[in-house]
Amino acid sequence: MKVCKFGGSSLSNAEQIRKVCDIMLSDPDRRVMVVSAPGKRTREDTKVTDLLIALANARIQGYDGQTELTAVVRRFAIIANELGLPDSCLAAIKTDLTKRMHADHTNSLKFMDLLKAAGEDNCARLVAEYFKTLGCEAAYFDPKEAGMFLTEEFGNAQILPDSYGNLAKLSDYPGLIIFPGFFGYTLTGEIVTFSRGGSDITGSILAAALNASVYENWTDVDSVYAVSPSLVSNPHPITEITYDEMRELAYAGFTVLHDEALTPAYRNGIPVNIRNTNNPTAKGTLIVRQRVNFEGVVTGIAGAKGFCTLNMSKYLMNREVGFALKVLQILADEKIPFEHMPSGIDSLSIVLRRDVFTPDKEKIVTRRLVKELGIEKISVDRSLAIVMIVGEAMARTVGVTARACTALSKAGVNLEIINQGSSEISVMFGVREEYCNYAVKELYKEFFQR
Ligand code: ASP
Repeated sequence: MKVCKFGGSSLSNAEQIRKVCDIMLSDPDRRVMVVSAPGKRTREDTKVTDLLIALANARIQGYDGQTELTAVVRRFAIIANELGLPDSCLAAIKTDLTKRMHADHTNSLKFMDLLKAAGEDNCARLVAEYFKTLGCEAAYFDPKEAGMFLTEEFGNAQILPDSYGNLAKLSDYPGLIIFPGFFGYTLTGEIVTFSRGGSDITGSILAAALNASVYENWTDVDSVYAVSPSLVSNPHPITEITYDEMRELAYAGFTVLHDEALTPAYRNGIPVNIRNTNNPTAKGTLIVRQRVNFEGVVTGIAGAKGFCTLNMSKYLMNREVGFALKVLQILADEKIPFEHMPSGIDSLSIVLRRDVFTPDKEKIVTRRLVKELGIEKISVDRSLAIVMIVGEAMARTVGVTARACTALSKAGVNLEIINQGSSEISVMFGVREEYCNYAVKELYKEFFQR
């Protein structure tokens, strides 16, 4: 059985919905369909989820929300009308939205999730209706009845382990299962959503629960590319990549799947296939545990801005047992996660994300480091970018880092930090932010255009 998740752009209008239904019907193994809320039809358009957030905010601020409600209903009305669905379908959507918007909003986070989930929920009901008009055996499944239970963290929920056993029972249904993405229920029966883009997580959970042969994630690109198409035209397509490689590239800015979406598939060894709804004959990118095809030593190159380094030194630092522990304790006290920690004999640098290491936090942390640990020299660089080259084959190849460093030095890019983890599947370079894109392009030239 294949579990297929379709993103917002694949469900943005009637034409797209017809395409996804054709995709589902063209392969009898495609038994489970996870849907997002309708996304943008054009660049300037607004996603239904964002319209719902606006509706929730209007209600929370004490407005009647009628304008916002009309905008959401209009999106569904156009789709239902163009698909020739009976009037009762749109009437049910209107009733559902009206009921949600008049729910108690004293807990604004809970109310927000109730509204956000309406995009996926109504889209799934609508798609199931459409399948029925085509004469197919298809049914909408309610996450509550199916047993998709999540933690009570509104806007950022996690799956509860018992859900897998509950969801496995879905396979008893002989027809097409249409399941809304993005949300589930708390054990006390409240609607709760994953973080934004979370329908990817729903799809991965269902694929794992049902032990699917593959989790197909349908989007609007032919494949994952070795470098961002915004930096290089016609970049090299990746046909096969491991979960670990994908994870490393996601860390440095690849935004193909939701960050948490790979975990359920990874734990159960379910291959993930990224496919294009607008070009279904393209094979896409297959994410697997172990690769068989290696086209080159490097699989992908990515760069991410928005990091800083906190540099400190103290004479005879390496003789003080537990010194790093004390530094990290100060960061933990201030609830600041750290990313990397390159060190010298008497010096230590900590790489942090700029959005969590705010100027206020910087003041507190640097003051404490000087006062409590006797740091003699301390500095903060707030404009660091991280550039990564990633590839499983690197662990077995001598000289990859040398090639990368030579390419960067010829391009005049100074390396502030170099870091290679023990898995040897990636090398990370810290460069000044203004060199980030340039460094990525130079590395791409070195490994893909020679
Ligand atoms: N519709 C939700 C969002 O826009 C979830 C998703 O599409 O995955 O974030």
